[in-house]
Amino acid sequence: MPEKKQRIVLPFHKDIDTLDAQGLENLGLYRGMECIHGHSIRNMQDKWCYHCAHRISVNSCGFDVNYIDSEYKIRFLEFLKHVEIKGADECWPCDIKTKRFTFPSYRSESSAAFSENFGVAKIMYTAAWGDIGALRLTRKKGVCTIDNCVNPLHWECILNLDVPPKTIHPLVFELDFAKIKHYGILKQQKKVEDYRLAQFKKHIIHPSLLIEK
Ligand SMILES: [Zn+2]
Ligand SMILES: [Zn+2]
Repeated sequence: MPEKKQRIVLPFHKDIDTLDAQGLENLGLYRGMECIHGHSIRNMQDKWCYHCAHRISVNSCGFDVNYIDSEYKIRFLEFLKHVEIKGADECWPCDIKTKRFTFPSYRSESSAAFSENFGVAKIMYTAAWGDIGALRLTRKKGVCTIDNCVNPLHWECILNLDVPPKTIHPLVFELDFAKIKHYGILKQQKKVEDYRLAQFKKHIIHPSLLIEK
């Protein structure tokens, strides 16, 4: 019999970004270090990002490097040089022998160090799915043909649905200044997640077509 996952019941609030510290605390949340996708509300116990957790719970997997937060972008681009990106159903080899790479983390909230030594699979997972804080990432059973695989569909945590999506979308590596600027505007307007959810539902439209003149 397949083992049952212990599910986390995610708190939900329609206007979560407008809540004050007390309102967040009532839901077991707090405002902490920004995640790779520019969100800042986290779970008090396990530090996972509220908005990322909801993305994972709707089976949304993918990233566009231009919409990755500036604190993380350079480090992530450096990381990508070590990964061979292949098809969604193939293993993605990472050539970092130690399988560790320093990357910004929520731990810097309570320590002087800005970066943490991350497992390489968790870095790709964090970019493609979201920031799961201290939750454990495990390899999905029977999918990998190599040990050093970082394909985000080959890894899971308790927030993931049992059946992963068939594709990783978006999957964009080319830097595009118009998109970086667009991300900055979205962040200022606190609309990063609204935009991302809308994109999840349809194909990416170039942001120059979206920005209101
Ligand atoms: Zn997040
Ligand atoms: Zn794999």
